[in-house]
Amino acid sequence: ADVVNKIAAGEIIVAPVHALKELIENAVDAGATSLEIVVKDGGLKLLQITDNGHGINQDDLPILCERFTTSKLKAFEDLTSIGTYGFRGEALASISHIAHLQITTRTNDSSCAWRAHYSSGKLVPVKPGQPAEPKAIAGRRGTQITVEDLFYNVPTRRRAFRSASEEYNKILDLVGRYAVHCSGVAFSCKRHGDASMGVSIQAAAETVDRIRQIHSSGVANELIHFETADDRWGFSSDGWISNANYHVKKTMILLFINHRSVENTSLKRAVEQTYATFLPKGGHPFIYLSLDIDPKRVDVNVHPTKREVNFLNEDEIIEIICEEIRVHLAKVDT
Ligand code: ADP
Ligand code: MG
Repeated sequence: ADVVNKIAAGEIIVAPVHALKELIENAVDAGATSLEIVVKDGGLKLLQITDNGHGINQDDLPILCERFTTSKLKAFEDLTSIGTYGFRGEALASISHIAHLQITTRTNDSSCAWRAHYSSGKLVPVKPGQPAEPKAIAGRRGTQITVEDLFYNVPTRRRAFRSASEEYNKILDLVGRYAVHCSGVAFSCKRHGDASMGVSIQAAAETVDRIRQIHSSGVANELIHFETADDRWGFSSDGWISNANYHVKKTMILLFINHRSVENTSLKRAVEQTYATFLPKGGHPFIYLSLDIDPKRVDVNVHPTKREVNFLNEDEIIEIICEEIRVHLAKVDT
């Protein structure tokens, strides 16, 4: 069973950035307003994320890394909405099968923090020789997750990584996406031992300012606010899109569906085509789009790694979005 779990985990988490995405989402789900991320060797040696969210109850720690352990299913109806992001309660379990996982956490009600170590879904001693149970320590409210030696027991996967900086760049891209999207949250991300930050953003900044800080004032100065909704297809969207004056070499699409960073190839293609008629010299768009779709209409099971997300009436919704983009681009004349 362990081998099966290990293989399953390796299919969900193919690179350090995939583990980090799950950890960021957990921290945001826990109501954190501050996320600090530290990375070593592109995340292969160390991924550490410290949040100030509501923490995890001491009682929940023993089973936390068993598969399908989740605190996020409150009612039976939620079973339909878990479809939104595939099976849930799998992230920490998966990570524990392919890395050394340490969790330190403290809730408001607790008089101290608790530290637990996990391996292959189970609690293991924090120090050799000690019992396999959480240990009381001093600490602040919130949760710190430390993932070390990712893929230590999956040598083929581990060998597939050629460059730590490539992995680090993927991590910075992801953190940058969430930093743009989560406007009430402060983010920082840096390499272990480095003084300089890869990403650093305050909780207070407006979305446009966040884009300015993460990307450039060049793009931020050329953005138009974007909003559209349609009850028929149960969606609404909000975001910022570059105007026809803005030329970049590469299309940049920050797409969030129900507050998760995802990809959708059809939307990307349609948006590029829409811009093509307004950018005759071959420029490319910058788009930040936050889509809220009725969870029952979202389907994630098309891709095992869940990065590509599809939804019902995709063509219709994409057409409405692109039509709205056309209206905006036509208004702001070059
Ligand atoms: P899911 O997020 O789908 O519930 P995970 O494996 O990602 O599954 O996490 C399992 C559970 O661990 C969550 O439901 C949550 O209760 C708890 N948890 C994980 N990370 C955090 C965190 N940073 N703060 C508070 N609770 C957390
Ligand atoms: Mg999760």
